[in-house]
Amino acid sequence: MNTQPIVENRIWQPEAECLPRPQLRALQASRLREAVSRCASVPFYREHFARLGISPDQIRSVEDVRRLPLTTKADLRAHYPLGFLAVPRDAVARYQGTSGTTGKPTWVAYTRRDVDHWSDLCARFLVAGGLRPEHTVQIAFGFGLFTGGFGLHYGIERVGAAIIPLSSGNSERQLMSMQDMRPEILICTPSYALKLMDTILNGDVPRDSLALEHAHFGGEPWTEDMRERIERGLGIRCWNNYGLAEVQGPGVSGECAFRNGMHIQEDHFLFETIDPETLEPLPDGEKGELVVTALCREAFPVIRYRTRDIGIIYADGDCPCGRTTRRMSRILGRTDDMLIIRGVNVFPSQIETALMRVEAVAPHYMIEVSRPKALDEVTVHIEMQPGLFSDSMRELQSVRDAIGSAIFSVTGLHMHINLVSPNTLERFEGKARRVKDTRRLVD
Ligand code: ADP
Ligand code: ZN
Repeated sequence: MNTQPIVENRIWQPEAECLPRPQLRALQASRLREAVSRCASVPFYREHFARLGISPDQIRSVEDVRRLPLTTKADLRAHYPLGFLAVPRDAVARYQGTSGTTGKPTWVAYTRRDVDHWSDLCARFLVAGGLRPEHTVQIAFGFGLFTGGFGLHYGIERVGAAIIPLSSGNSERQLMSMQDMRPEILICTPSYALKLMDTILNGDVPRDSLALEHAHFGGEPWTEDMRERIERGLGIRCWNNYGLAEVQGPGVSGECAFRNGMHIQEDHFLFETIDPETLEPLPDGEKGELVVTALCREAFPVIRYRTRDIGIIYADGDCPCGRTTRRMSRILGRTDDMLIIRGVNVFPSQIETALMRVEAVAPHYMIEVSRPKALDEVTVHIEMQPGLFSDSMRELQSVRDAIGSAIFSVTGLHMHINLVSPNTLERFEGKARRVKDTRRLVD
């Protein structure tokens, strides 16, 4: 565990974030009971509760959450567009949507109080990761239905910092603003930071013309090795935060100054881990699918939402920052993204980890999976670092070998390695799509 803070250790709402654990558990239990009563106005839950014989007064402890039904993305889609709305429409202050990474986007709704909570929950992780009222923050997340843009916007406003709501895309304008307006903080997906980093590293926008100190990344899986690359490349600190529209958007969990995983905002979200196959609960410390109950949401109160995100809730005790909330690992992958290669489960993030350990390669890659004959084949296309792309067959072969054995040591699988020239693979402005699986087409 890290015992030294990376920035000054600050806490936005110490009364909530540092609540002694017994009090926190009691608060969660009473908020769970309230959430169950709010859900009684949602037909999906009313029917389940009736079938299971559950009423709010039976919810006495946090453990009682296990008696409640799980909610899936398919359930939300089956009640499209607003079947989960728990308040009259005139009580709704905002509608947002999911990004639709895995199919048709779904709508979510917020009351005024939901938006108010959301702002503080975003402020919590931003302040933990270095945001101060005197800062200027450039938001390169889309402003629109995607929760990243407006969610973070109000969190920054709450802290009192200045916002440049640039929205996503248009890298030239992003970089121009970074030079002319000199924001200290950038908010985007890690993939978009990689794209901007290209222009900075090739000298078109000199690093010393920027005031950038921190970046807050979310919206997609990334690895510790990728963090290292971006921090080194840009000379900044990069912070990880997690959230999903179905339970709120960003602000569900985020890193503190000690960066020992992401603190879960447990006064607002009840987290469980389950085995995605058997649906059995798993103890803290074990890897599994994260299941989230939104304890305070009025407009869209989901219970035991199956996130399809795989992670670990840490079992080890207190963090030196003083928060009492449990922490979670990075998201290791989404169950939808998991590749089954010749019977072995592999997440793209594992391949990324292996690739980033080879110095000669750039942080841009694409994973192609096919089944030309009876067996799965994986080809990893990866860019060489500019300046290191060599004409020597022997040098190229040794880089290929290094990548191949790094991948083998992480995944236990042999993959084909295709080294490509710098700046030839696709770049992304939002969430990256780095896997091309053509097997589904021939199955
Ligand atoms: P969609 O499910 O359509 O992508 P969202 O825009 O709500 O909808 O995105 C939420 C998802 O983004 C999460 O379920 C998770 O898979 C991913 N995500 C968000 N933040 C992170 C993060 N810090 N690390 C890894 N994945 C993340
Ligand atoms: Zn901490």
